[in-house]
Amino acid sequence: MILSLIIPCYNEEKSIPLFFERTERVRLQLKVDFEYWFIDDGSQDQTLSYLKRLNKQHEYVHYLSFSRNFGKEAAMFAGLQVSTGDFVTILDADLQDPPEVLIEMVEKIGLENVDCVAARRMNRVGEAYLTSLGSKAFYFLMNKMSRTPVVDGVRDFRLMRRQMVDSILSLTESSRFSKGLFTWVGFSTEYVSYPNEQRVSGSTKWKFGNKIRYAMDGLINFSEIPLNFVTYSGLLMVLMTILAIIVLVIRQLFFHHSVSGWTSMVVILLFCFGFTWLTLGVIGKYISTVFLEVKKRPIYIIKEKK
Ligand code: UDP
Ligand code: MG
Repeated sequence: MILSLIIPCYNEEKSIPLFFERTERVRLQLKVDFEYWFIDDGSQDQTLSYLKRLNKQHEYVHYLSFSRNFGKEAAMFAGLQVSTGDFVTILDADLQDPPEVLIEMVEKIGLENVDCVAARRMNRVGEAYLTSLGSKAFYFLMNKMSRTPVVDGVRDFRLMRRQMVDSILSLTESSRFSKGLFTWVGFSTEYVSYPNEQRVSGSTKWKFGNKIRYAMDGLINFSEIPLNFVTYSGLLMVLMTILAIIVLVIRQLFFHHSVSGWTSMVVILLFCFGFTWLTLGVIGKYISTVFLEVKKRPIYIIKEKK
């Protein structure tokens, strides 16, 4: 039995030594053959040279280096593609996914009818209040709007059987939202909980804008509700406008009401324009997703592999 570990790394020179040391301890404890796949996502620091050193020292440590930063989703996809183990797990390099949890995961996946064991954070201790609130709102919306539910607090950290990994690989869409894809492919998933951990060193690679984009990707790729909302409310607007036109014409013809009060006029105009822009934005988001998908660009480009 081989267990493949996929570790997306973006500027993690300080975290990798700590990560490797702690994970090696887990390996010795588990007595399972490990196959490390570090995916260097176009780091600008010494990440790659450190990975090269590890690769020289241990024959079970492999790395893959991208030609530029393609994002964690692309790194995870590349890792799943190159992994060969019967079981595969994805971990962050910053030790926010404690490797010790793997022990419990391996135990659980040995059970019958379990294809995947996913880690779940019990709390969000140490996270900024606004970030927590934003995440909560996102999971709420996602679960209300999409038929592919995503459990709050769930991470990309999970242990999967080969069969599930192959199913995920069969989904080749370029705008990837893995948390949705994991659920979409089905299979039975068990959860293990652990308290939130701070990253060991360096800082998060997520800017506020990245988070918004990530949430958008999740919603747009797994829900048609925004599009339906736009269509129906557009229809409602048109019907209301027709009604208003009839009323206004009758009023003008029979009661000779002179037009007064441009305030109401301006308010209506502003509302209509605002609404149109919002509508165009939502539709545009879907079109851009289609556009990217149609181009069939590769999800990542490899510069080096060993
Ligand atoms: N990561 C990556 N490419 C990126 C951003 C992040 O491969 O463009 C990796 C990063 O090195 C880490 C993991 O993805 O191993 C999670 O990133 P981070 O800790 O910044 O995210 P957070 O834990 O704050 O959600
Ligand atoms: Mg992290």
